[in-house]
Amino acid sequence: MNRARRNILKGAALVGAGAALTSEGTQAQAGPKILFEAPRTTIPIVGTTDLFSVRRIYCIGRNYAAHSREMGSDPTREPPFFFQKPTDAIQIVKIGEVADHPYSTLTKNYHYEVELVAALKSGGRNIPIEKALEHVYGYAVGLDMTRRDLQRAMGDEKKPWEIGKSFDKSAPIGPLHRVENIGHFTKGAISLEVNGVVKQKADLSYMLWSVAEQIAKLSEAFELVPGDIIYSGTPENVGPVIKGDVILCKIERLPDMSIRIV
Ligand code: MN
Repeated sequence: MNRARRNILKGAALVGAGAALTSEGTQAQAGPKILFEAPRTTIPIVGTTDLFSVRRIYCIGRNYAAHSREMGSDPTREPPFFFQKPTDAIQIVKIGEVADHPYSTLTKNYHYEVELVAALKSGGRNIPIEKALEHVYGYAVGLDMTRRDLQRAMGDEKKPWEIGKSFDKSAPIGPLHRVENIGHFTKGAISLEVNGVVKQKADLSYMLWSVAEQIAKLSEAFELVPGDIIYSGTPENVGPVIKGDVILCKIERLPDMSIRIV
């Protein structure tokens, strides 16, 4: 057999091997099957058709001194503390719409908390404060809806907060605005109205821990990953809503976000 003939045969053998592999590969895929698709949570991004995929939702507690006091804490810059909401707690609220938001089950004291949300495009561990903002992809207006009675009851019993904070649809959020278009948020008015009456009114500069400091602190406790978002805490004068109330959230330089309690 000459060399050319051998090469042709080798090629044929390779094709055969490839086919076998393909068939094996198909078989392997048919082995353990995924029973159903777990839903993926995404947030629309202003100015692009791309979607931001959410990995974790972190929330910081008592990050404005006056709110910390109204919650019965001493706000003298204790280390920040964090909790999480499940990613499917997100409720997307489009710009210009008043989104229906269900009055949550179990509670008789359903509260609003308007918050700036930072979304991360990269992460890591032990991120220095000076580098922290480099990880931010964009910002949005968010609501940390809270079953205050259940949160307090669990706190009184020294039990986890989950049922008061981490329930379905507890995280309404507007679309993301990219840092390249909007910059960062270290100051600027933040407010919330219910039926046209101002309830919460403060400035982002009043945060006890800035977004950069929150990222740095969080990254000491958790490895941060692209897709993580951080609710940065609410100012004072949180309060209850009833069915029919319209909540309007404002953060300077971002479009308003509005929901109706139904
Ligand atoms: Mn909050």
